[in-house]
Amino acid sequence: MQYHDSIIELVGDTPLLRLNKVTEGIRATVLAKVEYFNPGGSVKDRIAVRMIEAAEASGALKPGGTIVEPTSGNTGVGLAIVAQQKGYKCIFVCPDKVSTDKINVLRAYGAEVVVCPTAVDPEHPDSYYNVSDRLVRETPGAWKPDQYSNPDNPRSHYETTGPELWEQTEGRITHFVAGVGTGGTIGGTGRYLKEISEGRVRVVGADPEGSVYSGGSGRPYLIEGVGEDFWPSAYDPEIPDEIVAVSDKDAFRMTRRLAREEGLLVGGSCGMAVVAALEVAKKLTEDDVVVVLLPDSGRGYLSKIFNDEWMNDYGFLDETGSSARVADVL
Ligand code: PMP
Repeated sequence: MQYHDSIIELVGDTPLLRLNKVTEGIRATVLAKVEYFNPGGSVKDRIAVRMIEAAEASGALKPGGTIVEPTSGNTGVGLAIVAQQKGYKCIFVCPDKVSTDKINVLRAYGAEVVVCPTAVDPEHPDSYYNVSDRLVRETPGAWKPDQYSNPDNPRSHYETTGPELWEQTEGRITHFVAGVGTGGTIGGTGRYLKEISEGRVRVVGADPEGSVYSGGSGRPYLIEGVGEDFWPSAYDPEIPDEIVAVSDKDAFRMTRRLAREEGLLVGGSCGMAVVAALEVAKKLTEDDVVVVLLPDSGRGYLSKIFNDEWMNDYGFLDETGSSARVADVL
């Protein structure tokens, strides 16, 4: 019989898929690493496994302990799955702007979700930051993974995503493109690929226009899960050779094309990464192999990116002209 003992064993070893339609006119091979094949539906399952196993090994997380993390998204799902299998409790802290669908997903996996008001100062006792700190202090056996500063976040990619790409491409990968959020994916995968190729692989970050990684002020944008208004310590600025800034409009239009033309129902940060990958690939030859990492599925974005009315509110479906910036619309 062929079966796995635990859902945790299904994390990683995601497939590479060649993009055939959106790459029209491009000579390089462009391959997508499709991370929604992970059991929790995103790349973040990888860091959840590594961060929890490292905390067990160091003693920071003890049997029956509680994982407390301010997250509403993919990292929460990954942590919830690994935690339930290993017998830990999870408490996630989310701001009240997070959709009920996302909160319900975390609760479905058995996690507790504490919702905090967005309209209070960071110093207020009920703020997102203060509530999660208080929960860590007051919950016996609490451990906070803190994906923004945890070295096991990039390490998980150094140990899994990087080697998978090297093997899957038989060492022929020439460019690696990924969105930058905590910086774990690009830092860990990029470092591995640079080391094994002796510096031959070029690493390109994709960033929403406005975010600090591409020189922005941290102004608002709509692409979720990527870009920052601060520099997290999980991000190693030495790894990317280049950062490409992508607008919300371009990212979301490409996200819709990936669903319609490539059969890939993926999230907005995937469209963003593909825009950056094509920007890079259009200057390359048939000898080049560009791999772009697609972090999650499009199921979580049906009422936004895949909803014409929402797209029209921001002018994202207009064929010409610039679209409204989030700050102008909100
Ligand atoms: N896309 C999505 C949807 C994400 O949730 C994340 C994680 N924040 C990323 C991209 C970026 O990954 P990383 O944190 O490893 O930079």
